Amino acid sequence: MSTAERPPAGASDVPARGELVLATRSAGKLRELGPLVAQHGWRAVTLDMVGVPEVPEEALLEVHDSFEANALAKARWFAAKTGRPVVADDSGLVVAALNGRPGVFSKRWSGSALEGAALDAFNNQFLLERLQEAAAHGRTERTAQYVCAAACVWPEGELVVHGTTSGSLLVAPRGSGGFGYDPYFLSDDLGATFAEVDGAAKARVSHRGRAFGALLTALDARMRACVDPRFFTTGS
Ligand code: IMP
Repeated sequence: MSTAERPPAGASDVPARGELVLATRSAGKLRELGPLVAQHGWRAVTLDMVGVPEVPEEALLEVHDSFEANALAKARWFAAKTGRPVVADDSGLVVAALNGRPGVFSKRWSGSALEGAALDAFNNQFLLERLQEAAAHGRTERTAQYVCAAACVWPEGELVVHGTTSGSLLVAPRGSGGFGYDPYFLSDDLGATFAEVDGAAKARVSHRGRAFGALLTALDARMRACVDPRFFTTGS
């Protein structure tokens, strides 16, 4: 089994509920979503595991001006491709001194075509420079929120919810965990950056943890109301 085909972390228990496809190409998100989904009794499967190779059109899905619309666009696209229940998220950093930027543009606002850790480093440097510029114009506040919209699309329905978490942006990084802007994001709830704590601690208060907690709780309620819960069990 190649690395790409391995189940995401936390997905080893086969639960009664069935499988949910995690519609993301981000290694950082996969590390977080696997355990979240498993906690609610679902078996998480990746796009690689269900044989959906990455295509350039995927980059065109996130063209909307809200996290919810982008998350739904991704979930709908991959539900149509796989015929399976799919969860997707769209998330980003909303910075007060930057009038809410980068928001839905958080991944690519620096204009860099890099990927992974190199993109994160570039984005973080770009963020620090924009904050310095804002401060020079009197916007010295460092408060920020992470926002996440989590969507589920299955053959006969869809749901989308969102979660937020508050913090402030440091001038120097702290910690080596997490991904993206985490080394600079000092969580109000934790008193530590999201890069200084383990995945479980981040998930308890993070935008993604809160959004997926609400989404999966809502899915549980739908399933309880569903006449035939086996409907949700896909794959062989
Ligand atoms: P997207 O949801 O794939 O559009 O990407 C959102 C972008 O927001 C990521 O590439 C990160 O730059 C940033 N982001 C979203 N959630 C997090 C997080 O939990 N930690 C750090 N950065 C995040």
